[in-house]
Amino acid sequence: MEFETVCGLEVHTELSTKSKIFCSCKTDFGGEVNSHCCEVCTGMPGTLPVLNKKVLEYAVRCALALNCEISEVTKFDRKNYFYPDLPKAYQISQLYLPFCKNGFVEINVGNKKKKIRIHEIHMEEDAGKLIHENGKSYINYNRTGVPLLEIVSEPDISSGEEAAEYTKKLRLILMSIGVSDCKMQEGSLRADVNVSVREKESAALGTRCEMKNLSSFKAISAAVDFEANRQAELIKNGGKVELQTRRWDEDKNASFVMRTKESADDYRYFPEPDIPPIVIDKELIEKVKSEMSELPDEKKRRLISLGLSEYDAALLCDSLELSSLFDEVYKISDRAKDSANWILGEGIMLRKELSKLPEAEPLGEIIKLVKSGKITRETGKLALRESLVNNASPLEFIKENDLLVKEDKDLVISVCREVIENSEKAVNEYKSGKEKALGFLIGQSMKKLRGAASPELVNSVLIELLNH
Ligand code: ADP
Ligand code: MG
Ligand code: ZN
Repeated sequence: MEFETVCGLEVHTELSTKSKIFCSCKTDFGGEVNSHCCEVCTGMPGTLPVLNKKVLEYAVRCALALNCEISEVTKFDRKNYFYPDLPKAYQISQLYLPFCKNGFVEINVGNKKKKIRIHEIHMEEDAGKLIHENGKSYINYNRTGVPLLEIVSEPDISSGEEAAEYTKKLRLILMSIGVSDCKMQEGSLRADVNVSVREKESAALGTRCEMKNLSSFKAISAAVDFEANRQAELIKNGGKVELQTRRWDEDKNASFVMRTKESADDYRYFPEPDIPPIVIDKELIEKVKSEMSELPDEKKRRLISLGLSEYDAALLCDSLELSSLFDEVYKISDRAKDSANWILGEGIMLRKELSKLPEAEPLGEIIKLVKSGKITRETGKLALRESLVNNASPLEFIKENDLLVKEDKDLVISVCREVIENSEKAVNEYKSGKEKALGFLIGQSMKKLRGAASPELVNSVLIELLNH
């Protein structure tokens, strides 16, 4: 028997609105325990929730970015459960009329594009945080009522790698449209992972297990693969997969059963009577559309049309930081390919070493200077490093250190002569037909000239001298 993995994700993202979804408390992460709370988000009797308009606007943004059909009317429902993380004993969520459905996200897996369909997205309120310490339990309601979007995929995901790619792509899109900071370590993006297996080519879905609240790409990917493997082995050995909620243990790299469900959970959903139905009118949708920034895939297509390779465009657009740096550098330098090469080469290298990327302005200036032949590439690299380490203006640094290319032929001739005199071995190699030796001589001469001449001039002077 050969099995394939079937996986669907429910991704929760905390919206970065200033205030909570149904009250005016702030949504900031952290803060003193129970300081971002009021009578509404702590569920005092007699209080009424009022929908934060920004939440709806962010939701529409998200619907558009994920290619969903937006509902004309949307409603909230109560999901009832008894657990102290929500003081009302229910969560305001959406079941019957979510604000959008039927979207998709395109991901890349092994050079192939794949569409992961989105079943629906709904709005809801986040729950508080329980803290268990010294045999006691405490509750922090700061997070209670922070707006969440839950993005529910169809079971179109077929491996741990795809699950991680899908989550990465969602994160990139959500960050680029500015609805969430998606800080996984702070819980502002977390995924419930549903996994089942079925015999290859079979159409029916197998029984699934769910692992809740995974908060890293690594955990998501590992959990899907582990769980699919566990289920396949179980079936091969004559066992049967049970509908379970399992806990993913990152340290042990394994999943463990938390509870076995006999049937679907009964949350006794019913319409939220305190919030009237919401009409999502065309005007709002048009307004949001007109204010939408470029999406990562659109940006990638634009960069390719500017002459970048698909590979470089993808590297840049996988990171909002790199792609916006590219836009700025390109605006200054007017050279797309050079901008990409400098950012992906020197820029990334400097970031590794100094933990920060170059600023757009010096980098754009340097690219212009190199292209016009006023400085060499090597000088450009020096100046870029200086700009990052000492905040130096490239041109000032270059002038102070006398690094402008002078194309002073007499100086070049005298330096090249000296190098030839001191490099007997390379000169002999060159004369016996080893072209490579010339590179060494150019390098030596350029070093001595400290960027004062272009490599082209040095090259021609050396050949002239050597052939005499
Ligand atoms: P629930 O109401 O229990 O959350 P849903 O039907 O809404 O269940 O599905 C939740 C998620 O589980 C969706 O992302 C869906 O794609 C996925 N899913 C549903 N059935 C399966 C299955 N048999 N195998 C894998 N994933 C599944
Ligand atoms: Mg679920
Ligand atoms: Zn409040």
